[in-house]
Amino acid sequence: MSVSPRNVLQPVARVPYRGVRDTVFHGKPLAPVTEFPAPHVAEPVVPKVALDGISLRYRTTSGEGLLALDNISLEVEAGEFLCVVGPSGCGKSTLLHLIAGLQPQTSGTVLVDGKPVQGPGTDRILIFQELGLFPWLTVGGNVEFGLKMKNVPKAEREEKVQHLLRLVQLSKFRDSYIHQLSGGMRQRVALARALATGPDVLLMDEPFAALDAQTRDLLHDELERIWAETGCTIIFVTHNVREAARLADRVALLTFRPGRVKEEFRVNLPRPRHMEHPDVTRMARTILDCLREEINKSLEVEYADEKAR
Ligand code: ADP
Ligand code: MG
Repeated sequence: MSVSPRNVLQPVARVPYRGVRDTVFHGKPLAPVTEFPAPHVAEPVVPKVALDGISLRYRTTSGEGLLALDNISLEVEAGEFLCVVGPSGCGKSTLLHLIAGLQPQTSGTVLVDGKPVQGPGTDRILIFQELGLFPWLTVGGNVEFGLKMKNVPKAEREEKVQHLLRLVQLSKFRDSYIHQLSGGMRQRVALARALATGPDVLLMDEPFAALDAQTRDLLHDELERIWAETGCTIIFVTHNVREAARLADRVALLTFRPGRVKEEFRVNLPRPRHMEHPDVTRMARTILDCLREEINKSLEVEYADEKAR
């Protein structure tokens, strides 16, 4: 399918997912896919993650309660890279916590592979900005930690740690401690540690927000490569629309409190992408136009709260 600026930039309703890896990766066209005649009865495809009418109300000290998420329904296909954007406080982190099984929703269902989420599981890993790396362990020790907890035998652990450190290009730093690493390297350790237990779904909460632009660009390339190599599903939260346009197959935009899905954008741009590419910039601007309204609402509420004090 040719990608004209017109079909690239249109916000889209649900379109069946076609993975990026069946088109082009790193500039190399992949082997053509043989087309078979459509079967009489289409196989139902079970989404990797499905949110069905999710709402979440937090208890507040005033007793009123705060509706953070309101009736969110969203499906994420296996191997898809979904970015979630929205103004601060719209419930992005909350959404990831629900998928990770760290807290229960007030109503609705979260399904992974068609099964309701009952709590945390090693099939879903949450990575956030603060990382939570252990400063008393080396890089290798941090990556090995989850494997030890799962009682993986020593020889297998060793093989996996070596493979993961190669994947994130940190083999030379295996014996370094976390405080000896740059911010970008720490993020890569966190990624290797998350991948150690072989999760199907990576949940990433603004992981690169505190990094300088150059490091962030490199990590985008690395994350895209690792995603392509592992075939995992990624749900990546960011408030940076350019980052979303750079990384995502699809971007879901949430409204300001309560968080609802306002719009979805499919990003049909070839990979690898560059943040400065005109098509990425144009896509980002389209998303930003839609997001700006929500940011304005959030500012109005904040200022109103200030005035009421
Ligand atoms: P985002 O990640 O989009 O900035 P959050 O998911 O962190 O938003 O929060 C959504 C809303 O829920 C915010 O208004 C926040 O203040 C509120 N909130 C988050 N956690 C709690 C909590 N534990 N108790 C009460 N309110 C909370
Ligand atoms: Mg957040």
